[in-house]
Amino acid sequence: MMKTYSEQIKIVVGDITTLHTDAIVNAANRSLLGGGGVDGAIHRAAGKGLLQECMTLGGCETGQCKMTDAYNLPCKKVIHAVGPVWHGGHQGEDKLLASCYDCAMKIAEENHLSSIAFSCISTGVYGYPKTEAAQIALQTIMSHIRNGYEGEVVICCFCEEDVKYYKDLL
Ligand code: ADP
Repeated sequence: MMKTYSEQIKIVVGDITTLHTDAIVNAANRSLLGGGGVDGAIHRAAGKGLLQECMTLGGCETGQCKMTDAYNLPCKKVIHAVGPVWHGGHQGEDKLLASCYDCAMKIAEENHLSSIAFSCISTGVYGYPKTEAAQIALQTIMSHIRNGYEGEVVICCFCEEDVKYYKDLL
């Protein structure tokens, strides 16, 4: 029987720090030392052990990810993805954003994570247009599902309004 990709993809609304998935994906910055938005929320909820581990990582390039433990969070691991800052779309932002999702999914596969929850990387302070970001997110996630990822993928929207960008595409 044909499997619909959307069976494996769930869209939820809420605070990603409350999710019990194997991993949550942070929208971090290159320092990996915390910041505002979802990054700040994750560091606050995880506690200072997370910052201490992040300090050993030497930062992370844009478009890449690094995984840490989750400390006081209910998930098991945190994958810190560094999304691109939106500069109008002519500086490779699309490739860099796709690369974040690709890298996080590879980490999930390599570590046999059975569920992964994404924040909407780059769509806050970094200014990535939400429609385009949702397309890139779902395309990249679906290509991993098509290629055999069997776990659950959660898209965690912070507000109800953001859900439509993903629902329309699924
Ligand atoms: P970036 O700098 O990559 O744009 P932001 O944290 O500013 O990262 O925003 C990324 C997305 O995370 C935005 O859609 C924002 O609404 C959302 N967000 C902020 N706080 C949380 C949270 N606690 N849980 C889930 N999503 C959040």
